[in-house]
Amino acid sequence: MPIVVKTNICTGCETCLESCPYDAIIMKEGKAVINEYCNECMTCLSVCPEGAIIETADSSLRKQKELTKAKFTDYRDVLVFAEQRDGEIATVSFELLGAGRRLADKLDAGLFAVLLGAGEDEANELIKWGADKVFVCSDTTLKQFNDDLYAHILSELIQEQKPSIVLAGATPIGRSFIPRVAARIRTGLTADCTSLEIESETGSLLQVRPAFGGNIMATIVCPDYRPQMATVRPRVMKKGEYQKDRSGEIVNISADNMESRTKVLETVKEVSGISVNLHEADFIIAGGRGAGGEKGFKMLEELAEVLNGVVGASRAAVDEGWVAYSHQVGQTGKTVNPKIYIACGISGAVQHLVGMQSSDMIIAINKNPDAPIFNIATYGIVGDIFEIVPLLIKKIKEAKGL
Ligand code: FAD
Repeated sequence: MPIVVKTNICTGCETCLESCPYDAIIMKEGKAVINEYCNECMTCLSVCPEGAIIETADSSLRKQKELTKAKFTDYRDVLVFAEQRDGEIATVSFELLGAGRRLADKLDAGLFAVLLGAGEDEANELIKWGADKVFVCSDTTLKQFNDDLYAHILSELIQEQKPSIVLAGATPIGRSFIPRVAARIRTGLTADCTSLEIESETGSLLQVRPAFGGNIMATIVCPDYRPQMATVRPRVMKKGEYQKDRSGEIVNISADNMESRTKVLETVKEVSGISVNLHEADFIIAGGRGAGGEKGFKMLEELAEVLNGVVGASRAAVDEGWVAYSHQVGQTGKTVNPKIYIACGISGAVQHLVGMQSSDMIIAINKNPDAPIFNIATYGIVGDIFEIVPLLIKKIKEAKGL
């Protein structure tokens, strides 16, 4: 049932304005008016001291909403925000193009990318990674990330191009300005998606992400607004296919007459001695509570060393203080995508799995044959890590002649 304001009763006290979580109440000629952003949550009904806000069976608002929905057909393509840092395209952009290409093909739509602060060479790279069209703005003021300008350009481009889906990386840059864009163009945003699919019947974007502290995987849809916006953490999606002869269109966009309320004076990079390069590693040997303590992690370090890999960890092992947080893999740690992930004494909680399930090969060693980690493992070894890992180290050393 749509909501309306009885103008003959409304006193224009404005009490309802702040109650609306959707900013759907505005003042017009001293009276409250509900606009098309109303989600019929009913919050305003109880706050109006005069009882002037009511539900009604027949309303022009309903028709207005239906009209908005009818306009969904104007929204077609998939748009990826391609992030660059110091002129170099961030890997997450290629991963988003991989996901975007898959979604666009399912929708029989185009895959567009927008690149700010880089040039045509970088735009061509995006085409080789799957984009059909790249909107590029090489203005030097955009080389450094600027919340205000990035939000302005992307919002304008979305309003002009009307993509059905907009994807961006859940990186510090994406997290900073993408919510601002979603608010500006008044649509929904699902952050930190781990999987994106198209619903075959409706063509809607199914956005999957952990919810309730990672205890469930929620599928979120955006049925009432367009575009459907999602951010995805780096290393969650697979890159698409790189085709060096692929061609596409490059459209230059201008940043003229754009002013920012903020000015970036200097960028200072954090230098940390304890960072572990889990993102770049081909082999990750991860330990969980089953590693039993620092001694167990020393053994895993030895295996990592013979494999030229690095040590990862579950949160339980980090919480126990056996290994530093920089090693943690999972929902509140890092998302990794190595060639081989060896999970040693890790049960396979969903919060751990979201950080490593896209590894090319997963080998699980666990003494409990029913441990959930075996459900996603490529190879499973049921046994005690203190027996199996030393045997592995010995065999690998022999094979390598060490
Ligand atoms: P356990 O679940 O205790 O499993 C230990 C496993 O080791 C068992 O399966 C056992 O059979 C096996 N084992 C024991 N001894 C041996 C042995 N000698 N040889 C072989 N196997 C053995 N967790 C993360 O990992 N990363 C996250 O980012 C993360 N974020 C979280 C965020 C939230 C909001 C919440 C609520 C939880 C989060 N967790 C995270 C915690 C997660 O729910 C699990 O508690 C955690 O992953 C369990 O770690 P584990 O598998 O090492 O320990």
